[in-house]
Amino acid sequence: MPLYDYLCQACGHRFETLVRAGATPACPQCGGTALDKQVSAPAAPGKSKAIVAAARRQAAREGHFSQYSAAERNKLLR
Ligand SMILES: [Zn+2]
Repeated sequence: MPLYDYLCQACGHRFETLVRAGATPACPQCGGTALDKQVSAPAAPGKSKAIVAAARRQAAREGHFSQYSAAERNKLLR
């Protein structure tokens, strides 16, 4: 999955996120989807873990759980 750097036009929050083909990323701060794509710098090893966690939170908020294991999914849906 490609990693992109975005600048939210609504609140000015800058963040990196993993974007699946066809998926629209949303600002983790305000949920806005009006984003400017920035030139992405390579993620540091420690940082990419946080990015994956953020991407999973985003997926949960959007209501799809494909990035979660079956056990995690059960916990979330209960
Ligand atoms: Zn925002």
